[in-house]
Amino acid sequence: MDLYSGHINKLIDELSGLPGIGSKSAQRLAFHLINMPLDRVNRLVKTIVDARENVCYCKECFTLTDNEVCPVCADQKRDHSTIMVVENTRDLAAYEKTGRYDGVYHVLHGAISPMLGIGPGDIRLKELVTRLEHNVSEVIIATNSSLEGETTAMYISKLIKPTGIRVTRIASGVPVGGDLEYIDEITLLRALEGRTEM
Ligand code: ZN
Repeated sequence: MDLYSGHINKLIDELSGLPGIGSKSAQRLAFHLINMPLDRVNRLVKTIVDARENVCYCKECFTLTDNEVCPVCADQKRDHSTIMVVENTRDLAAYEKTGRYDGVYHVLHGAISPMLGIGPGDIRLKELVTRLEHNVSEVIIATNSSLEGETTAMYISKLIKPTGIRVTRIASGVPVGGDLEYIDEITLLRALEGRTEM
C-alpha cells in the first residue's frame, strides 16, 4: 500500500537518488518542497536548470566555471608555470580561500582507484600531460592523503619525472583520509609550504 500520493512518492524517489540523501531526508525534503510557496519552488528549479546548462569545464585547468576559461587561468598576474594538481573543484576552492597560492591549478575530477575500477584514463591526466608542453617549472601534487590520493600522486610523479619538471607533494600535515575541503586554511598553507620533492 502506498502511504503517499503518487506525485509525492515520485519526488521522494528522485531526491533519495542524490548523494548523501537517505530515505528519511528525502521524505523531509519532499514535504518541505510541497509546502513551499510556488514562486520559490519555481526559482529553485530555474536555478538548478541554469547551473546544469551553463556551468562548464575550464578549457585549461578543467575546474567547473561559467566561462570558457576560469578566473584563475584568465588572471595574467598568476604564475602560470606552477600547476597544483587537485582532485576536484572543491579542493581548488579550499586553496583559493587561503589567498596565498599564486600559481594555477589542474583539476583531475577524481583519483585512481583500482578497487572502484577508476584508472588513469578515467581522470583528467592526459590533459595534464598536454599542459606540461608549455613552460611549466613545477607541478605540486595536492591530491588527498587517502589510498586513492597517494596512488594518484605516485602515478603522476612517475609520469612527470622523465620530463625534468620539478614534482612536489604537499606535506603530510593533512590528516590521513581527510578531504581537503574540510581542512582549515592554516593546515593547508603549512602543507603547501612544507611540500617535498617526489
Ligand atoms: Zn582554469
